[in-house]
Amino acid sequence: MFEKSTWITLPRNVLLGHGVLEDLGAALEDLYLTGRPLVVTSPTPNELAGDRVRAQLTDPETAVVDDASFAAVEEVVDVAEAVDPGYLVALGGGKPIDTAKMAAHRLGVGFVSVPTAASHDGIVSGRSSIPEGDTRHSVAADPPLAVVADTELLADAPWELTTAGCADIISNYTAVKDWRLARRLRNVEYSEYAGALSEMTAELLVASADSIKPGLEESSWLVAKALVSSGVAMSIAGSSRPASGAEHLISHQLDRIAPGKALHGHQVGVGSILTEYLHSGEEGEWRSIRDALASIDAPTTAAELGVTDEELIRALTTAHEIRDRYTILAGGVTEAAAIETATATDVI
Ligand SMILES: [Zn+2]
Repeated sequence: MFEKSTWITLPRNVLLGHGVLEDLGAALEDLYLTGRPLVVTSPTPNELAGDRVRAQLTDPETAVVDDASFAAVEEVVDVAEAVDPGYLVALGGGKPIDTAKMAAHRLGVGFVSVPTAASHDGIVSGRSSIPEGDTRHSVAADPPLAVVADTELLADAPWELTTAGCADIISNYTAVKDWRLARRLRNVEYSEYAGALSEMTAELLVASADSIKPGLEESSWLVAKALVSSGVAMSIAGSSRPASGAEHLISHQLDRIAPGKALHGHQVGVGSILTEYLHSGEEGEWRSIRDALASIDAPTTAAELGVTDEELIRALTTAHEIRDRYTILAGGVTEAAAIETATATDVI
């Protein structure tokens, strides 16, 4: 008897391009949403685009949060209790969007993503995890109802946010390798379609690396398109597996060991060099990953991330402890092996 079934939830409207912020109202109307909108944003994006967003909404309320923390999610939930919103509009970089999607999940309402930086693939996915002390609050929720990514806004974001978004996409290479490994060794459910889409997204981005330069709006377009495509791969898979493997565990561990030193995308990029080496050794494709990162100005060493060699080694040797996701790190990497890996790849 055939017992397989799939449930794929995708964003309904994806608007990507120059000036599409002006079409937010039309995109919302097309979704037949009801109830008051609650805009979740942080101070800078609110100043930058808050009024243009609110002008297209009916009777909007705004919650301004400072960071992505569990407390920030609580703040939004508190505001929402008074407003009783029909949906949330997440406006900003990765942090307000992570906060909004977590709050939306708690409140049982949908959200619309209006990124002002193409800094990581969370702007399109329903997945997020926010660190809180020694634990993480994770949400595996639905993706945004709509994504309105205005390349004019994205191009104005600090350049390192765009290179972080690129590095997050480049890390798909090793994420997919970890996923395949987990399928072989742990019989983890694997989607050929999602795996191929995720890899192809990274390949297309690397192939266009020459057009990814500061000051070029096309860079933002290329990266945002790749982030959308990577988000779709996660939606098809029904998990973050296509875009998150051991390199993400290393990054999460760096967030705890050396908080606030480097951007998520930059950390996973360096993590990807290391885990590619662990997968395939000296002859593997770690050089291609490193060169792709270097070509777009993303960090390739611990020093460029602003963390010490010791911190990086500690992240690599403890990353497997984070959660039950089978990757190349499996039972852990010894300190000697971690030092050998990081040295051979010039990360330390
Ligand atoms: Zn990521």
